[in-house]
Formats: sequence, structure tokens, C-alpha cells
Amino acid sequence: MQSEYLPMLQQLKINYESGITRGYAFRVQQLQHLKAAILKYEQALYEALAVDLKKSKEESWVTEMGMVVAEINHTLKHLKKWMQPQKKATNLANMPSVSKVYAEPWGVVFIIAPWNYPVQLLLSPLVGAIAAGNVCVVKPSEFADATAQVIQKMIEETFPANYVYCVQGNGAEVVTALMQQFTFDYVFYTGSTAVGKIIYRQAAEKLIPVTLELGGKSPCVIAADANIPVAAKRIAVTKFSNCGQMCVTPDYVLVHRSVYHEFVEEMKQVLVRFFGEDASQSDNYGKMINEKQWNRVVGYLQQGTVLFGGSANKEHLFIAPTLLGINDTNVPVMHEEIFGPVLPILPYENKEDAKQIISVNPNPLAFYVFTQSNDLAEAWLAEVSSGGACINNCSWHLTNPNLPFGGRGNSGIGQYHGQYSFETFTHPKAVFKTPAWFDPAIKYPPFTGKLKLF
Ligand code: NAD
Repeated sequence: MQSEYLPMLQQLKINYESGITRGYAFRVQQLQHLKAAILKYEQALYEALAVDLKKSKEESWVTEMGMVVAEINHTLKHLKKWMQPQKKATNLANMPSVSKVYAEPWGVVFIIAPWNYPVQLLLSPLVGAIAAGNVCVVKPSEFADATAQVIQKMIEETFPANYVYCVQGNGAEVVTALMQQFTFDYVFYTGSTAVGKIIYRQAAEKLIPVTLELGGKSPCVIAADANIPVAAKRIAVTKFSNCGQMCVTPDYVLVHRSVYHEFVEEMKQVLVRFFGEDASQSDNYGKMINEKQWNRVVGYLQQGTVLFGGSANKEHLFIAPTLLGINDTNVPVMHEEIFGPVLPILPYENKEDAKQIISVNPNPLAFYVFTQSNDLAEAWLAEVSSGGACINNCSWHLTNPNLPFGGRGNSGIGQYHGQYSFETFTHPKAVFKTPAWFDPAIKYPPFTGKLKLF
């Protein structure tokens, strides 16, 4: 079967093989073009994000365009150094050879993005791919269509189609066709764990290396000694940002029984302070992406006792910020990734109880602990494996470009941001250079009797 994309994909490959994308000056120029394009399209992106997700301007800048601009600035500052071949020590037996690691671009890379942060999760990996000297195919999510249309226009205006090419459409059809009919050199996928497995299988058929940035059920633990007012604010600001549709959102909170009531009461007050008595009227509160997601998340409201919120409006895809008391952990809301503004809160007696609940969903994308004790925080970190973690905070680890961002196990493979992106989008090629002037006979046959000389 002939793919409608094949001629363009071949053009991308030809362009990559010309070597033009590898020079430092070229990479810098493209990153500058991308930054200028984001600033030019800033208003259009605000409008599109408001249509797709009812994101405010402030939230859109901080979590979408601003994050990409910060990533570009950081990359421009360090790119020259990252591109330098890294000199490595050479072992005695190999003297006087010289050993280096070259950061070799992969070639044609495929970046597949989800709908929840449709700007940032498409363009941040693109920054890394460009910085690393690749050519790229990017696939925005069809579910954030207004944003996907603006991104396509922006990319087509900014880059030649044989350098960065934007494909649209139904993911199952378009991504599958592209993966079957073309051998990409690298695939970078962000989205659900279920689709991540499909992509991984498709990539495995052709031995294509992948990064999988997947979902999860990130636990949050409140210890007895936690600063409750601070914990409530920091949990609420992350959990209810983007209407709970965030991969690293605290999925549920385990609160030490001694501070359970204090925490619940504090959360109620914080939610009123943040979003008013009726969050549907708040400019700072978003909406669910579509009816399918709305139906799914509304279904969770029956699976516990509503302690706060609980209202919903299908026409406006609104679900109120909701605190859900859990009486029985054997319900879907405690097993599936919630990805919406419903926060289960459970009391725990001791660490073992809490760990038991966490262990049902191993390797979450993030893990959060609120405590004033360093020892307790370190003990929790050692006992819960996760992609990343925060102590006395939620999600902010991903805003530091010096930290790797990624999951493990169910929550993903690989990491990116800053230098980690550059490393993701390059192959560390071992280069061993041997001078011709030193050529001892011991290295060549016949070897008889030479072994003892080593
Ligand atoms: P999704 O997996 O449904 O879709 C992501 C992308 O894959 C889209 O571009 C879509 O078109 C494509 N796609 C969908 N079905 C496909 C198929 N059968 N074959 C090939 N491609 C297909 O994910 P989503 O619903 O858009 O995003 C939500 C999920 O993403 C959540 O689980 C969330 O936790 C996760 N997520 C993870 C991160 C992270 O950085 N780890 C960030 C954001 C979202």
C-alpha cells in the first residue's frame, strides 16, 4: 500500500542525509525561528487553548508557551557545549589511541503528542530534536483540534516541509500508517499507557528506539508532621490545574489519620479561595476536553463520599473541583488514572497501610510527600519507585530543565528536558582514533607465544 505521506517522508530523509541540519549555526537559527513563531502566534494559541480546554492566558503561558520558550532559551545557552564530542579516558592497552563520544543525531524522528498540554508536549520534544540535529515529523492530538490547527499553520510557516512536517488526523489511523510504511530513526511518544504499548510494539517490529512518556496514578502522602496549609495549597494548585488533566497531577492523597480532618477542611477553604463558590464561573478553572472524558470522570463521583464539589454540567464539559472520601479501595477510581478534577482522599494509620495502597499501581510517573522531616522524606523516596518525585510540592520538578523528566515501568521509558532532551535525540557514538605511527607487531597474527607479553 502506498502511503500518501511516503514522498514527503522520503524528502525528509534526503534532507537529513544532506547534512544541513547538523551544523551548530543551523540548529541555533531554527530554535530562534521556533521561538519567534511561538511569540508571533501567542495570541492565536491563547484563543485555541481557551476553545479546547478553557485555559486562561496566565495558565497557558506558564504551562504551555512559556515553558517551551524557557526550554529554547536554556538549550540555546548550552547547545554548543552539549554538541562537543566528550573526551573519555583510554585504557593502557589501547594507548596511544584517543577515545571520544560523539552526539550523533538519529535522523528522521517522529514526535506524537497528546491533547492535555497540546502546545508544550509537542514543541518541547521538538526543541530537543532540532537541537540534536534531526529532521522531524510531528503529530498533534486530534482531540485538541483548535490548537492543532494553529500549530500546523505555525510550523508550515516557520519550517520547510522537508525539515519539520506536521501530520494531522485520527491517531490510530495516521500513526499506524506512518509507523508501518516508513522506518523512523526514533519515536518520541507522549500519551496513555495503553496506546504507548501499541507504539512500542510497532517500533519493536523495526527495532526503532523510543521514548515513551506515559500516564500514571501519582500518589501523594501527607505525613502527620506536614505543614497542612502549605500542603493544601500546593496540592490544589496542581491537581485542579487544567481541570485535573495533567499527567503528573496528584491522583489521590493518603493523609495520616491524625491530620485527616484538618487537611480536608483546609482543602475546602483553599478551593473556595482559588476558584470561588462556583468554579464554573471562575476564569482560572478549565473544562474537560470532550464528552467521552467528561462521562468517564463523572462516573467516579459515585465511587466514594463527596466531601466537596461533586457538581457537573455536560453542556459545558464542567466538573467541579471535587474531594472524594474513599470508603472502599476496591473501586475503579482507586485503580484507573483519574485524569480529571476528582481527588480521592484516604486516611492511613501507618506507613505500611499507605504503601499497600500505593503498591497496587507500581512505578507511578510522580510521587509526592509532604513532611517536615528529612529522614521521613528520604525513607519514603527509598521505598516508592517513581519517574520523579517532589518533597513538599507537586509537579514542579518538571519545570527545572536541569532535571530529567520521565517515567519508569507503566509510566514510561526514557526522559527529556534540557540536556536530557539533547541526549534522548542523539545516539552516543563511541569513536576510537588510533594513530598510524604506532603499530606494534604484537597486535597481529601469528599470536603464538605473544599472550604472555600482555
Ligand atoms: P492517547 O494515547 O490517546 O493519544 C496520544 C497520541 O497518540 C495522540 O496524538 C493520538 O492521535 C495518538 N493515538 C491515539 N490512539 C492511537 C493508536 N491506536 N495508535 C497510534 N496512535 C494513537 O493519549 P491522550 O488521551 O491524548 O493523553 C492522555 C494520556 O497521556 C494520560 O494517560 C496522561 O497521563 C498521558 N500523558 C503523559 C504525559 C507525560 O509526560 N508522561 C504528559 C501528558 C499526558
